[in-house]
Amino acid sequence: MSLESLHTALNAIQVLRSSVGHVFETLANGIRADHGEDGKETKFVLELHELLSKVNGNLREVEQAVNSLTPPPGPFNLGNTSCLSQETTQDRQALYPQLVESYKWTDKVHEYGNLAVALLSQNSLKRSYINTSAKRRRTQTSSHNVPPQAVDSVIATIDRLFNDMHVKVSRPFATNAVLQITLGRILKAVVAFKGLMIEWVLVKGHNEEFSTELGVGGVGGQLDLWSESRYCVFRKVTENANAAMLHFYSPTLPELAVRSFMTWFHSFNTLFSDTCKRCGNHLHSGLPPTWRDFRTLEPFHEDCKP
Ligand SMILES: [Zn+2]
Repeated sequence: MSLESLHTALNAIQVLRSSVGHVFETLANGIRADHGEDGKETKFVLELHELLSKVNGNLREVEQAVNSLTPPPGPFNLGNTSCLSQETTQDRQALYPQLVESYKWTDKVHEYGNLAVALLSQNSLKRSYINTSAKRRRTQTSSHNVPPQAVDSVIATIDRLFNDMHVKVSRPFATNAVLQITLGRILKAVVAFKGLMIEWVLVKGHNEEFSTELGVGGVGGQLDLWSESRYCVFRKVTENANAAMLHFYSPTLPELAVRSFMTWFHSFNTLFSDTCKRCGNHLHSGLPPTWRDFRTLEPFHEDCKP
C-alpha cells in the first residue's frame, strides 16, 4: 500500500466532512436575507439541493479512494504504544511520532552495527584479544596495560644494547611512552607506545625536527607525531618501519617484540653506506636500500625485496 493513496483517501474524507458540515450549517441558519423576498423558500431548497449533490460527489470520491487501498494483512502490533493514542493531554500526544523516529534510528544503528561486525571480522591484523577463543584467553598477558616502570626498564635495556642509538623517553599523552630515537647521524624517529605495544613509528632525517613551532621564549613546542619527513627516503623507511612493527608484534611476548623491532630498526645505521644484497648497487631509482630483511637484516632496495 502506497502512502500516496492513503494520503489521497484521508484528504477525500476531510473534504467530505467539510461539505457535510456546510449542509448542516446552511440548514441551521434557515432562510437568510440574501434569499430575497420573492420565492425565498424555493431558493433555499435549491441551495440545499445543490449542497447535497456536492456531498454525494464527495462521497463517491471517498469510495473511489478507499477502494484503491489494500487492507493490511493483520492487526498492527503496536504493543504498549497503542495506549498513546488514548492520551488526553495535548503536549503528550506528540510522543508517538518521536517514538516512531527513535525506532527507525535504532533499526539503522542495528543494521550499521551488523555491517561493521562483518567488515571488522575480516581484518586479519587484529591486535587485541577481544575475539580470541577461551583457550588462548587463559594465557593472556595484556601488553596494553603495563605499569610505566616496567616499560621504562625495557626501554633502558634496549638503550644500553646499541652504542650509536640514543633513546629519550617522554610521556606527553598520559601514561603511554613516546620514544625519541636518534640513530647515529643518519636519522631520527619517534616511536609511540601503548603499554608495551608499539602503536606508531615516524622516521625523519637527522636534520629534521619533531616538535611543532616554539612559542614565545622557546616554550610551547609540542611533539609532532604526524608530519612526514620532507625526504622521500625517510618516508619510505617510515612505511617499512610500520610494516616491521606489525610483523614483530606479539601479544604474548611484548618485550621480545619491542627488542626485535629495535634490533631491526638499528640496522638502518648503515642506510647510506650499504649496498643492496640483490643488485649490489648503492642506489636504485634514486634511493638507497630502504628495506631490511626481518630475520637476517640484509639490506634490499624497494624493488629488489625477496
Ligand atoms: Zn637492489
